[in-house]
Amino acid sequence: MGKPTGFLEVDRRTALKRPVSERVTDYKEVELLASPQDTESQASRCMDCGTPFCHNGCPLGNIIPEFNDAVYEQNWKYAFEILVSTNNFPEFTGRICPAPCESACVLGINKPAVAIEMIEKSIIEKAYAEGWVVPQTPAKRSGKKSSRSWFRTSRFSSGKPIKQSRPLSDCF
Ligand code: SF4
Repeated sequence: MGKPTGFLEVDRRTALKRPVSERVTDYKEVELLASPQDTESQASRCMDCGTPFCHNGCPLGNIIPEFNDAVYEQNWKYAFEILVSTNNFPEFTGRICPAPCESACVLGINKPAVAIEMIEKSIIEKAYAEGWVVPQTPAKRSGKKSSRSWFRTSRFSSGKPIKQSRPLSDCF
């Protein structure tokens, strides 16, 4: 826990959104990326609880207090390593996860919860920007086939081509 009084001093802030007048003209991301300073400040709100209920809330078991602390200490590379040790796709979960970890956050009992999802997104975006995200190729191939071949042989498919009863144009 980097800053014992962080949760007393810093109010919760989440990422700002682009102006509506701009958003209606494109399909780009609505939320802006928080600055590293803002993210570090938000990470300082984590109390490093003895029983961190954020763990229970996260279906992936993300090690949230530890990556919050690493961000607060400006050790972003370490925060990234902690994050990807349990999460294969933080670039998605940092955006579209409903964040049950925040609903479970102990700080949420009497104050707004730690902005965990925003911190997660900032970590992975910094990791991409710094070139820390690299393919993890296996040292040895197992020889197993992809899920596509599983589908072909599963009970959902006979393995035979699907016979179309009527032309697709009739469906629309
Ligand atoms: S429950 Fe909230 S305050 Fe406690 S360790 Fe998890 S994120 Fe930090």
